Amino acid sequence: MAMANETEQPVTQAVVLIVGSGAGGGMMAYQLATSGVKVTLLESGRMYDSAVETAMFSPVSDAPLRDMGTPDKPAGFFDATIGGGSLEEEPFTTDEGTEFRWWRARMMGGRTHHWGRQTPRYGPDDFKVFSNTGREVDWPVSYEDVAPYYDRVEEIVGVLGPDEKEAVHNSPVPPNHIRHEPPAPRASEMLFAKACEKIGLKTHAHPTAILTRDKGDRSACFYATNCIRGCSIGAAFDSVTGFIQPALKTGNLTIISHAHVLQVLTDASGKKATGVLYVDRETETRREVQAKVVVLAAGSMQSCRIMLNSATDKAPEGLGNSSGMLGKYVSDTLFTNISVQLPTFVGLPPHNEDGISNRTFMRLVN
Ligand SMILES: Cc1cc2nc3c(=O)[nH]c(=O)nc-3n(C[C@H](O)[C@H](O)[C@H](O)COP(=O)(O)OP(=O)(O)OC[C@H]3O[C@@H](n4cnc5c(N)ncnc54)[C@H](O)[C@@H]3O)c2cc1C
Ligand code: SF4
Repeated sequence: MAMANETEQPVTQAVVLIVGSGAGGGMMAYQLATSGVKVTLLESGRMYDSAVETAMFSPVSDAPLRDMGTPDKPAGFFDATIGGGSLEEEPFTTDEGTEFRWWRARMMGGRTHHWGRQTPRYGPDDFKVFSNTGREVDWPVSYEDVAPYYDRVEEIVGVLGPDEKEAVHNSPVPPNHIRHEPPAPRASEMLFAKACEKIGLKTHAHPTAILTRDKGDRSACFYATNCIRGCSIGAAFDSVTGFIQPALKTGNLTIISHAHVLQVLTDASGKKATGVLYVDRETETRREVQAKVVVLAAGSMQSCRIMLNSATDKAPEGLGNSSGMLGKYVSDTLFTNISVQLPTFVGLPPHNEDGISNRTFMRLVN
């Protein structure tokens, strides 16, 4: 049960309180702080500065096990993420015989230090699935409603993509005045494109949140390091570099790190959020922040978990759960892996083609 100040610690007052500093929370903090709103951000993990902490240039020989994955660093020692598939303090269960890896980051910037930076847009048909197929439901908004916001986000984040003339049905790309030019395809990509051409498929550079020209304090990519480790020059987008730091510069953003939120607190009606209860992970004490507005951006599943954990006698099934749907039909990042070996490249001398790390995806169009 959520109870008002059960903490006996001084209560912090905030105007807008945001829980989580990843893609969602970072964007919210940036948008509000740069619009002049006072924002307090609570993040479960520690502060992280990509400019100084990213192991961009370290050779694998400097890492234990030559940077191979381990249970606590599943994507390798030099991966920027603090966290991974299993977090000791946040266990979860799965049904017998099923496997589910819930990949989480606990750090300022969340999963944006590790994500693939692939930024496809939904197309017009994706908003009208029921009308087009008779399945699922149509969105209450259309692509045309959302397109200006895509433009705006892509401008803030910085996205490379193909010439807009190359866009095909239902796969819109950033307009030319916003996009960054994509780098030349690398040898493996050219080989792949050639193979696709043979079966009548066209390829083009996939929209990706990487700068190929300088943008404010952030520099253009120099195509030589592994983006999964993060990017100390700010070419690859992460929430700290792209959102949190510019928001801090406005003087409107206050950050409380190591703050793991347990519950949203509500008023006597049980309907209006009045703040949150969190655990200060460093001192292991419970604390409270009161706020006019509470924004949950702790990741889709973790936000649901907090709302379920915020049950009161007025809302016994959890906050905002009168339908009983809270926590059901939720989507998160899913993984699948395919590895191939291309004999054409075996034994070739090392080369350094232009391209982005090992993850320039190509979109197939027919
Ligand atoms: C390996 C991988 C590759 C991906 N590649 C892509 C891609 O190419 N393109 C794409 O669009 N998406 C990709 N994603 C998905 C993308 O990273 C996520 O959709 C996005 O980061 C979600 O943003 P978010 O703000 O909801 O959550 P997150 O970025 O996870 O941020 C949530 C934040 O909330 C904090 N938090 C959690 N619980 C609490 C709590 N109780 N109290 C306080 N703070 C809390 C966390 O520490 C974290 O900082 C990828 C994800 C992974 C894991
Ligand atoms: S390849 Fe480019 S975007 Fe990726 S880490 Fe290196 S400089 Fe940054």
